[in-house]
Amino acid sequence: MRKKVIAANWKMNGTLEQANSLLDAFASAPLTVNESKIAVFAVPAPYLMLAKEKLGGNPYLQVAAQNCYSKKSGAYTGEISVEILKSIGIDYVVLGHSERREYFSESNAFLADKVNICLEFGITPIFCCGEPLEIREAETQNTFVAKQLEESLFHLSAEEISKIIIAYEPIWAIGTGKTASNQQAQEMHESIRSVLAAKYGAKVANEIPILYGGSVKASSAVELFAQPDVDGGLVGGASLIADEFIKIINA
Ligand code: PEP
Repeated sequence: MRKKVIAANWKMNGTLEQANSLLDAFASAPLTVNESKIAVFAVPAPYLMLAKEKLGGNPYLQVAAQNCYSKKSGAYTGEISVEILKSIGIDYVVLGHSERREYFSESNAFLADKVNICLEFGITPIFCCGEPLEIREAETQNTFVAKQLEESLFHLSAEEISKIIIAYEPIWAIGTGKTASNQQAQEMHESIRSVLAAKYGAKVANEIPILYGGSVKASSAVELFAQPDVDGGLVGGASLIADEFIKIINA
């Protein structure tokens, strides 16, 4: 059975004091995580080791970087390598978030390189995809998202792609308060799974977790996560409010 994953994306938010208090709240909360449902916290880079320290006692609470570079090491000032991440015990990286695609011009090809280096170092990419509003309005979202997957992931072998987590995040729903309807989310997740199945077969496609992201709240999480192809969420704003995110994890 494929794993459920509830991931927090703090983005560029929170002072050290706030990070401490949020992490303490999550570490001490009664969370319904287990072998088949994990929570992953993508915190700003300076808090990665702190998060490991605070959450590390629970194997079902994992820590993720929000980005990494595509090279192993070297003269790339300001970047973070997977080698560095692995050396501090990080096993997950968010890749291709729409904010990185938009503000830092990350292309599908560049993301393919990042995916490769993550897999080489045994780090699980949480690979984000999703369409902007004009694509949704033109009703071409399924082909748009399929192209993102094809160009960044479809060079992988079946064994390699089985190690990826996909997060579908319609850009028009990120940080806007507009959640995709349960039906819109399910339709896209089903479409993603069928594209994966066409390339890798149904068995592989059925094992890959596909998360939904875009203004998820405790009040919308239960129904969203109950959709047959929605395997959890990638949560931005609501993951910075301890009580709210605890409810989402337990949804
Ligand atoms: C995100 O940043 O990945 C996200 C989904 O943000 P929000 O939940 O705030 O829309």
